[in-house]
Parts: sequence; C-alpha cells; structure tokens
Amino acid sequence: MPDYDYDLFVIGAGSAGVRASRIAAGLGARVAVAEERYLGGTCVNVGCIPKKLFVYASHFEEEFADAERFGWDVSRPSFDWSRLRDNKTAEIQRLNGIYESLLTDADVDIYSAHARVVDVHELEVDGKRVSADNILVATGSWPEAPEIPGIEHAITSNEAFYLPEFPRRVAIIGGGYIAVEFAGIFSGLGAETTLLYRGALFLRGFDSGIREFIAGEIRNKGVDLRFQVTVNRIEKTNGSYRLDLSDGTQCDVDLVLCATGRTPHVEALGIAEVGVDLKDNGGVLVDEFYQSSVPNIYAIGDVIDGFQLTPVAIHEGMRLSKNLFGGEHAVLDYDAIPTAIFCQPNIGTVGPTEDEARERYPKLRVYESTFRPLKHTVSLREERAMMKLLVDEESDLVVAAHMVGAEAGEIIQGIAVAIKAGATKAVFDATVGIHPTSAEEFVTLREPAR
Ligand code: NDP
Repeated sequence: MPDYDYDLFVIGAGSAGVRASRIAAGLGARVAVAEERYLGGTCVNVGCIPKKLFVYASHFEEEFADAERFGWDVSRPSFDWSRLRDNKTAEIQRLNGIYESLLTDADVDIYSAHARVVDVHELEVDGKRVSADNILVATGSWPEAPEIPGIEHAITSNEAFYLPEFPRRVAIIGGGYIAVEFAGIFSGLGAETTLLYRGALFLRGFDSGIREFIAGEIRNKGVDLRFQVTVNRIEKTNGSYRLDLSDGTQCDVDLVLCATGRTPHVEALGIAEVGVDLKDNGGVLVDEFYQSSVPNIYAIGDVIDGFQLTPVAIHEGMRLSKNLFGGEHAVLDYDAIPTAIFCQPNIGTVGPTEDEARERYPKLRVYESTFRPLKHTVSLREERAMMKLLVDEESDLVVAAHMVGAEAGEIIQGIAVAIKAGATKAVFDATVGIHPTSAEEFVTLREPAR
C-alpha cells in the first residue's frame, strides 16, 4: 500500500470538515485540514452564530416597549451598532480559537491556506505537495447574486455582519431563510426595512399556512413585505441607492442586501480536473456514502447542495468518518430534520408540509391552533402564535409539527425527538403539559381542524 502523508485530507474547516476531521483523528486516522479563510466556516463566522446574536439584539426594542405595561419605566433606549458588531466579532474570534484547539488537541494538522487537488491522492497546499489516501471536500457554499444592473452596490450576508454603519433604510432581495431573518434583525434594530420577493408568497418549501401566518406577523412588526416584485436595476444616488422595481415603483434605501441563495463553493479546487463529477451549479455529486465519482474523494456539507444546515453537515461529517475509519457502513437518515427560522416570531418546523403530507398520507388529520401568547395579554402587543400538528389517521403517527411563535426553535427541537421516536397522537394526548407555556398547546390539541 502506498505510503501517504495522511489517511484523510479535509479541505474546509467549517461545521462539516471540523467534525469529520475530529472523529477521524479520534478513530486513529492521520488527518489534516486546510482552511483558507476562517476556522468554523460560515456557521461560526458569517452565519448561524453571529446571526443569532444579532437576533437577540433585535428583540430588545420590543422588550423595552413592553416593559411599561409590566410596571417598568425605561428611559429612552438608544442603540449603538458598533458596540453590538464589535462585541459579536470578539465572540467569533474566541470561537475561532476554540475551533483551533479542538483540532490541534485531536492531533489534526491545520494548513491555513488554499488547498488544490492536483491528482487523486495529491494536493498542493501552502506551496507544498501533500499526499492523502482519502480527500474530503467540505468547502461549503457562497452567496449567489442575480445578474441585475447595479448588483455590485448590494451586499450579501457576509458583509452584513461587518457593516461600518447601521443603515436607516434597508431593502432585502429574496424570500428565504436569510432574507426573512435579516428583515427581522434590521427592523428590530430600528431600520425601515423592505423585503422584495419575486413570488406570490415567500418561504417557498415551508408549510403554506405557516407562510401566510408569518407574513401577517412580520407585516405587523413594520416590515414592508412586497411580493411578486423583482428588481430591474440598482442605482447609486448621493450616498443612497435607488431600486427600480418591476411594478413600476422605486425604492430608496441606504443599504441593499441580496439574499437570493448560496451555491456550492468549488472554485479553484481542481476536483473537476481529476474527474470529480459536479452538478450544474457546481455541487459535488456524491452517493449516499458521500463518495464522488473518484472513489477516494468524498464531499459533505453545503458543497453537495443538499440541506445547507449546520447540524446536517455535522451529522454527515460524523457518518463519513465512522464509515471510513470506524468499520461502520451506515447511511444517514434524512427524514424529519427539524429546522427553525429566527425571524420574529420564530418559525420552527419538523416533517412534511400539509400539502406534502396529504400526498403521502391519504387520511391526514390536521390539528391547528392560533392564539395570543399569555405575555401579550398584558403587553397588549399584537403578536399571535400558531401551532399545527399533522397526524396520519391510519397509524395515528404524528408526522409533522409546525409552529410560529416565540422560541419555536427551542420547542420544535423537543417535538422532533418525539416524532423521530415514532410518537402517536395518543402519546401526545397522554403527555401532561407544562402550564402556562405555549408549548403545552402541542399536547392539548383535541379536535382536528381538517
Ligand atoms: P434560500 O434558498 O433559503 O432562499 C433564496 C431566496 O432567494 C428564495 O426566496 C428565492 O426565491 C430567492 N431567489 C433566488 N434566486 C433569485 C433571483 N435570481 N432573483 C430574485 N430572487 C431570487 O437561500 P438563503 O440565501 O436565504 O439561505 C441559504 C441557505 O442557508 C438556506 O437555504 C438555508 O438552508 C441556510 N440557512 C439556514 C438558516 C437556519 O437554519 N436558520 C439561516 C440562514 C440560512 P424562490 O423561492 O422563488 O426560488
């Protein structure tokens, strides 16, 4: 057997690559990882973590406003963007350090450089040639912008985390996770926020009842949601930007954020040249064991153009390394993956949408409830919550749960365990609620709505 420098060479130290490296090294493999940008990848640096910190910040305005009805007098609050941004950045730098120790403590060699595959077992990194028995591509994804005249004036989520100044007026193009989360952040922090979506209703892929409900909630919070509109051109005008829209109107703002999806990041990797088949958008084509068309080259995480979710990438990393170095031969179960959108209020979801479930389960029972959360009976804030359980009548299995409401992400995580464990509606009914919570609604839904 040829003597390679490493058993596994990982390109990309994001959620997927770091987990794969650590598990492989823990199983005795000689592992190296190359990272040209930042340890921890998108999630830690320009994704989940800083986003959630901004989401926390954006809630305070409502908390200050509601405080009065609960007896508190709060003097006029003011917001300092640079303090939030810099405190966030300090925390990210701390996490970068933790990722470095996680890797070095696991005896993984780190190359802080771009790695390029030059042969099926050979890479060029930091001016050196290194060889590896297996190569793992875990290079993630990168924001994609449509070809609109003037699109160079728009920023992406990457830059949104480091804005020199906080904008007074923001336009966001897109209607997916990032657009909706940033609409909540910008609006909550005090910017006049407009979200421009090309279709009839944003958040395609989510349950349609939930999408309609959250549209109402987001509008209530003051975000100008405009659907069925596209941007024809962006022009710079005296320090601000003018957007010409397809409905003939114009929108003047200080910042344009483009959140129109992320594509696999495979630039200058050399993998196509050694025979790795790619999808049209650059995503690495892999089988269920994450093996590409070159047998010793694997890919996981955003770069395979699957779920684009950190916890999925982490599971893929664990699965791959256990298969390669732990003597296992298993595939990941992609059913019932829970997810949350940290808009205001949150969306939490697990399992198929009502429309998808109707196709899968001919006899579907839909339980649904909308209500004013207890807190807002005194705050008098116009904010409502929605919960939905989908039950297959034949088996009584709860197949999906969808929610809009405060902490929906926290609540749906627990419900996802129950669904994964195969809980029936009878089990939900037999579960005692915790009172008074919003979550208890999930165990007290008695009469089907449909
Ligand atoms: P999404 O794929 O979620 O949404 C992209 C949005 O942009 C869609 O509304 C899409 O419209 C629209 N769009 C696409 N192309 C164009 C175009 N040419 N012109 C106008 N609109 C366009 O991508 P995001 O960028 O929001 O997020 C990327 C991924 O990151 C997500 O899919 C998610 O997996 C992950 N993520 C997860 C988060 C979480 O777990 N909380 C948070 C943030 C991101 P249409 O629907 O019509 O195609």
